[in-house]
Parts: sequence; C-alpha cells; structure tokens
Amino acid sequence: MKILVTGGAGYIGSHTVLLLLTNGFEVVVLDNLMNASIESIRRVEHLTGKKVSFIKGDIQDKTALTSLFNEHAIDAVIHFAALKAVGESSTIPLEYYQNNVHGTLCLLEVMANLNINHFIFSSSATVYGGENAVPYEESMPLGEASSPYGASKVMIERVLKDLAQSNLDFRAVCLRYFNPIGAHESGQIGEDPKGIPNNLLPYVAQVAVGKRERLQVFGDDYSTQDGTCERDYLHVMDLAEGHVAAVNWLQKNSEFTGVEAFNLGTGKAVSVLSIIKAFEQASQQKVPYTIAPRRHGDLPAFWANAEKANKQLGWRATRDLTQMMTDTWRWQSNNPEGYPK
Ligand code: NAD
Ligand code: UDP
Repeated sequence: MKILVTGGAGYIGSHTVLLLLTNGFEVVVLDNLMNASIESIRRVEHLTGKKVSFIKGDIQDKTALTSLFNEHAIDAVIHFAALKAVGESSTIPLEYYQNNVHGTLCLLEVMANLNINHFIFSSSATVYGGENAVPYEESMPLGEASSPYGASKVMIERVLKDLAQSNLDFRAVCLRYFNPIGAHESGQIGEDPKGIPNNLLPYVAQVAVGKRERLQVFGDDYSTQDGTCERDYLHVMDLAEGHVAAVNWLQKNSEFTGVEAFNLGTGKAVSVLSIIKAFEQASQQKVPYTIAPRRHGDLPAFWANAEKANKQLGWRATRDLTQMMTDTWRWQSNNPEGYPK
C-alpha cells in the first residue's frame, strides 16, 4: 500500500512515516517545511534503510496535489499538515482557517476528483471543548472550541461527516490525540519547535538542557490533586502505532463507510508537577520552575477513555511515563539545538 502523508516531516508525521516504512508501506510525504526540517526525513530514511518520496509543497496547491496523485497510486492519505499553536491561533485566526480548513478542503477536493477515498485525520482532544465530563468519550457531542485552532479541527470533522454522507465510497478516521510527547528511542528524531515552545514537554526539555532558564508552571490553584493542570500524555511512538492501526482497520473493514472517531490517549491524567519530577528523574537534571498565573483557556484536567481504539483498532498505548521522559531527554541531549539549521 502507498500512503500519502501530509505534514510528514513534522513531529508526529516523521515518527509515523518511520513506522509505516518499517511496516512495509510505501510513503510519499508532502510538506511545505513551514514548521519542519527536511533533516527529519533524511534521518527516518537512515533509521529504516528505506526511501521516502518527498515533495516540498503546500496542501493548498491543487495543481501540485493533482500531479502528485497522478504520479503516485495513493491508497490512503494521512493528513497531519496544519498550523498547531493554540495561543497563536487567536492572534492570527485567518491564517489558521486558511491553512487548516481551506488547505484540507483543497486536499479533499483533489482526492474526490481522483476518486481517492481513504482518509485519516489528525484531530485533537480539544474538539471536546470544556463542556463534556471527563474522561472524554467519542460518543460525546463536540464542544465549543476555545480557540481558532480548536475550531478548525471541529470544522474539519464536520466537513468529513458531510462528505461521507454525500459520497458512500468515502471512508475516514478522525484520530483525536491527547498530549503526544517523547521521541523515537534512537534519539535521532523528535520534536523541534521553532522559537519559544508553547507545549510543556519541549519547554521542560529545553530548561533541562540549559537553553532556557526556568519553566513557568501556569497555575497551581486548580481543583486537581496538586493544584496544577492534568493531561493525558502519550508516547509519540504509541501515537504513530495508532495511525498504522487505523490504516489497517480501514483496509480490513471494507464494508465500513462514513467517518469513525477514535481517542488516542493512555486514559491516565498526569499533573504538571508530576511531569517535572518524572523528567528530573529520567534526565538527572534539575528543572527550575516558578508558579505563574493560569494560562488563558486551559482546562483543569482532561484525559481519554481509549477503550474504543482498543476494542476496534486493537490499539493501546504501552509506553509508560518513564519511557516518555527518557526518550525526550535522549533526543534533547543529543540535539540541543534541534535539527541542524
Ligand atoms: P508539526 O508542526 O510538527 O507538523 C505539521 C507539519 O505540517 C509540519 O511539518 C509543517 O511544515 C507542515 N505543514 C503545515 N501546513 C502545511 C501546508 N499548508 N502544506 C504542507 N505542509 C504543511 O505538528 P505536529 O505536532 O506533528 O502535529 C501534526 C498534526 O497533529 C497537526 O494537524 C496537529 O494539529 C495535530 N495535533 C497535534 C497535537 C500535538 O500536541 N502535537 C495534538 C493534537 C493534534
Ligand atoms: N504548561 C505550563 N508551562 C508551560 C507550558 C505548559 O505549565 O510552559 C502547562 C499548561 O498550562 C497545561 C499543560 O502544561 O496545563 C500542558 O500544556 P500543553 O500546552 O503542552 O498542552 P495542552 O494545553 O494543549 O493540553
């Protein structure tokens, strides 16, 4: 099977491409490199001993997409390409809707023209909004997204549903990720944020390696066990395995039509202070921090009910918090400046 991976040079994309290759899939990557380095693809090729067909291009470029699909007989598309910084999305909402929503529409339109009907979408726990009770289950209604980024994911899920109703051959999976962290166990590929990291783990790792002075913990007065926010952190290689499971599920269940959503998480919630402690233990480095005010839009705690993915996809997260921390540290200490610029 040949898979097109949009955004395949990015953090989750590169780990998924690696796993697809080791599972015998052929992979074509389309990425405009706006938030990635081609070095991630080179390293994936080196680690697997396999070749990736890489195309530098934008999902909004329908001409480039059409020639890509004409050149490669693509069986399924895994769609990672998106802008993803929650805070930034409130500052430049139009860019987010343009890139994420319009970009996905372009991709779906070209796929429809060429009768390519298998689609796996990078959705997010953020689609549940703040209204649903935890743990989140797929049967819950989608919530009121708290940012343009979140809204772009909700909109795309709706587009997929409508598209599937209009075309019974169209088959899609929405994978709702919780908080992916960690890196491939080789320490060769990992998360390489541009500028100041927005997410917790890259920030913690950069403090530990001496790139940043101290972490700000956003709020310690939440109604959680230690007062800091709790999230469902999962290892990026477990997440990558979830994508392989979804591709296999689509292929196996040929009678399925429509859109199916799956949570990908561990089912456990971990606090910010527990993350700091676990990282210090794994890295044997100090992570100085101060308590700062709450970050606007943060929910106190959410985690997944991941039973549906287990039952239907046969998927479960198997890597524990220690491994998430050890692998993050291996990547960060081997590559203190990220990929060579
Ligand atoms: P990332 O920024 O590392 O990867 C996204 C990739 O897409 C980058 O390589 C970027 O260059 C590329 N890209 C962006 N816009 C493009 C366009 N118009 N055309 C072509 N390429 C484009 O991010 P990631 O963390 O790997 O996230 C991948 C996907 O997973 C995104 O859709 C994101 O919204 C979703 N997601 C991420 C998280 C997370 O915590 N990392 C959580 C939930 C969902
Ligand atoms: N967080 C923090 N300091 C930081 C970055 C994040 O205390 O520099 C907290 C944040 O408030 C949240 C948790 O860490 O409670 C996870 O944040 P992240 O942005 O990684 O994920 P998300 O908010 O999308 O779940």
